Amino acid sequence: MRKFLYLLIMLGVIFFMTHAGFSKSLYPLKDNSIKIIVPKNVVIGDPFELKIYFKKPTSNIQLSWLNRKLDLTRLNQDSVTIFLGSDIKKDKPGIKLLTIKYGNKKILKRIYLRKRKFTVTRIHVSKKFSSLSKKDLNRYFREKRIVESILFKVTKKRYYEKNFIPPILPFIISSPYGRVRIINNKNRSIHTGIDIKAKEGTPVKAINSGIVALTMDQFFSGKSIYIDHGYGIVSMYFHLKKILVKQGQKVKKGQVIALSGKSGRVSGPHLHLGVSILGKMVDPEKLIKKF
Ligand SMILES: [Zn+2]
Repeated sequence: MRKFLYLLIMLGVIFFMTHAGFSKSLYPLKDNSIKIIVPKNVVIGDPFELKIYFKKPTSNIQLSWLNRKLDLTRLNQDSVTIFLGSDIKKDKPGIKLLTIKYGNKKILKRIYLRKRKFTVTRIHVSKKFSSLSKKDLNRYFREKRIVESILFKVTKKRYYEKNFIPPILPFIISSPYGRVRIINNKNRSIHTGIDIKAKEGTPVKAINSGIVALTMDQFFSGKSIYIDHGYGIVSMYFHLKKILVKQGQKVKKGQVIALSGKSGRVSGPHLHLGVSILGKMVDPEKLIKKF
């Protein structure tokens, strides 16, 4: 009887070892010509790195992640690092699949998106920003379409150099990413970027190299700049006082692109910094501090 019990326990242990650590069944297409480094779990909104090492230089890779695609061609590299992220407004916690295709091969990776902790705060702004006139509402929708066309356009070239820098020093965040703001006791809005303390007229630097994709005076965001860093990464700078660059212009990491201000919907002067990766608004603080 005791022997039988031991056998049963042993069988249980063997079953657990082969089935419970789901990593084995997760990657059914075992492939020694590629090595992939990606986190197993990430907090919603946090950007993360995907590193791929190939045995032989590879020129085409297609990624699919949270209904977004990144298609890189003519790479001819034996390794590639790509930033990916999720959006506090658009994505839900749970297990998500990252698909990597190269040549005629396909690899799946599971990434667990964890819940994000957030705080709630009340802010007060001019009334015209909480009760929009029809004209302002139409303006907002018009601007939204233009901005989306910039954020969803994925440049296959990479302009950014490793590590992103703060646009303003000291880098003091007055309102973090993901915070819920109740505006004029009326509207609820989720903060999809970070607010950095800045007196009016503070020089604002590009957080990395890229091309100015758009400059615009927007209803909510005020005077704004959008920089395309390539591979689907766009940084945005809002509520500016003065824009010092032009659309289509190349900018270097650390180059002064504007003076901060208080244009658009604000409760005081500051710089709002946003970062979009493949159209997902991620936490810029993590991008700057971690990478
Ligand atoms: Zn903000």
